[in-house]
Amino acid sequence: MKVGFIGVGNMGGPMCRNLVKRSNHQVTVFDLNPAAVKSCTDLGATAGKSVADVTKSADVVMTSLPMPRDVEAVALGDNGILASIKPGQTYIDLSTNAPSMIRKIGAAMAARNIAMLDAPVSGGTVGAEAATIAIMVGGEKKVFDDALPVLKSFSANVIHMGALGTGTVAKLVNNMMAFCNAAAAAEGLMLGVSAGLDPTKLVHVIANSSGNSNVFKAFSERALKGQFSPPSFALNLAHKDLHLALELGDELDVPLPQGSATHNLQRMARRMGLGADDSSSILRVYEKVLGRTIKP
Ligand code: NAD
Repeated sequence: MKVGFIGVGNMGGPMCRNLVKRSNHQVTVFDLNPAAVKSCTDLGATAGKSVADVTKSADVVMTSLPMPRDVEAVALGDNGILASIKPGQTYIDLSTNAPSMIRKIGAAMAARNIAMLDAPVSGGTVGAEAATIAIMVGGEKKVFDDALPVLKSFSANVIHMGALGTGTVAKLVNNMMAFCNAAAAAEGLMLGVSAGLDPTKLVHVIANSSGNSNVFKAFSERALKGQFSPPSFALNLAHKDLHLALELGDELDVPLPQGSATHNLQRMARRMGLGADDSSSILRVYEKVLGRTIKP
């Protein structure tokens, strides 16, 4: 198949490179950052000149972009995907988007008879590199089945959740739980170290006890190194995701006390100027308040 890939940053980059390395699909990429494009063309992808250029030649065109407004601009804006795509082609958004934005873009695509899937991913940059990420997909089953050979080229776990938008809801639920987990890890590590425990031993104990989690592994590695940049998942993007989960909670009138507390913690870290650092820099709020670090 001919695949167009728009947005090849921390997540899109490794997903796109796996598409090139692990399949025979012909891949054309576009990104505002030339270095990001080069990391894919070095492996055999073709550089597209614009969103329209990438869209016109593709059977499947995909986006992996930071914010809902970025996806809106690329999908629906002047010279965007909708302006160039034709019936028979499929649009897949791999970004973590707002359910309301997915509905808006989906309606605009459907009005022109264009198939669309929302297909957010989870597993971080490590999972994206290893092609072990989960992809949670919303949209018509037939469209999903047709897109599977492309999605499977960069994911071992592709799950059809239901109608358009359901992939995005699953992703927001997952990320809210992951961020709450990170906040609990920050608090726990800070409590133990404040009580005089050796941080390396404490991390070893938790990694082999009931407090362990997928999040704890990456979080504790960064905490012990005191290294929060460059980000593999920027705090600004995590703050966006949790905002979207809380917005969904508002819409459905579902109480989310843990999510709200964690969102405020992320906001404090952003107010400390850490938004472009890794999402694990919520730990630095505690480090600042307590005047000590986890790093031994
Ligand atoms: P990123 O900032 O590293 O990459 C985004 C890329 O999009 C950049 O290379 C940027 O130049 C490009 N871009 C922005 N606007 C563009 C435009 N108008 N046209 C073309 N290119 C444009 O972000 P990321 O971490 O790769 O995240 C991408 C999406 O994946 C986000 O929605 C994020 O929430 C989600 N996500 C990230 C992770 C992670 O661990 N980083 C994990 C799961 C999901």
